[in-house]
Amino acid sequence: MILEVKNINKSYSNLKALDSVSFSIDEGQYVAIIGPNGSGKSTLMQILTGLFLPDSGEVNIFNLGLKKNLTFILSKMGIVFQQPTMDGELSIYANLKFHSQLHGMSHSLANSRIKELVEKFELKEHLTKQAKNLSGGLKRRLEIVRSILHNPKILILDEATSGLDPESRKNILTYITDLNKNEKLTIISITHLKDETLDVDQVIMLKNGKLVFNDTKDNFLENN
Ligand code: ADP
Ligand code: MG
Repeated sequence: MILEVKNINKSYSNLKALDSVSFSIDEGQYVAIIGPNGSGKSTLMQILTGLFLPDSGEVNIFNLGLKKNLTFILSKMGIVFQQPTMDGELSIYANLKFHSQLHGMSHSLANSRIKELVEKFELKEHLTKQAKNLSGGLKRRLEIVRSILHNPKILILDEATSGLDPESRKNILTYITDLNKNEKLTIISITHLKDETLDVDQVIMLKNGKLVFNDTKDNFLENN
């Protein structure tokens, strides 16, 4: 088990965004967290990444309590937020270099990892372009490269394909699947799109803040 959520509750004034949510995820799994808009997915993401504290309940990652071990856990976690967080004025290279410095990567390690990943994600020819001038699909690829630059063990993505055309969407999903299958990265992909569960191992579904399904993809597709 790489991640465990135990009885999480979270309210915004009188709105219950997460209601006694519990689940666990095994290392190496590709997991989709699915649910309609407003079901609590982003709130859960913000709790899993330590941005919000739950009102009650606990999160353990790598068998460590998230609250007490936040810095260590974040150093082993990649995060792609729903809203883009790149500096649009900076080039792809400068954005990645900045992130490597935040993670304390040495100059040479950062450069070799940037080289490897921009090749793998076919961003090499765009390296000197300002992030704001990239297409939606390229921006999302840059967000993913940045999130895994520091070699995390677990990657959490919130609506990684939202706003993209069908071809770019497929392309992003292929990259994510590849990271799981070939780099053995544990992946939690948050989405409101049912057809983005096709390659996953486990599906967790939220509705109105409650966990209403947690099983294999095959059982999900049979019952939903
Ligand atoms: P999802 O990501 O599944 O669309 P969210 O976690 O963003 O769901 O939202 C869950 C519920 O909490 C929604 O009803 C939303 O309007 C509400 N909500 C989310 N963030 C806030 C906030 N910062 N303040 C008040 N209500 C919020
Ligand atoms: Mg959301």
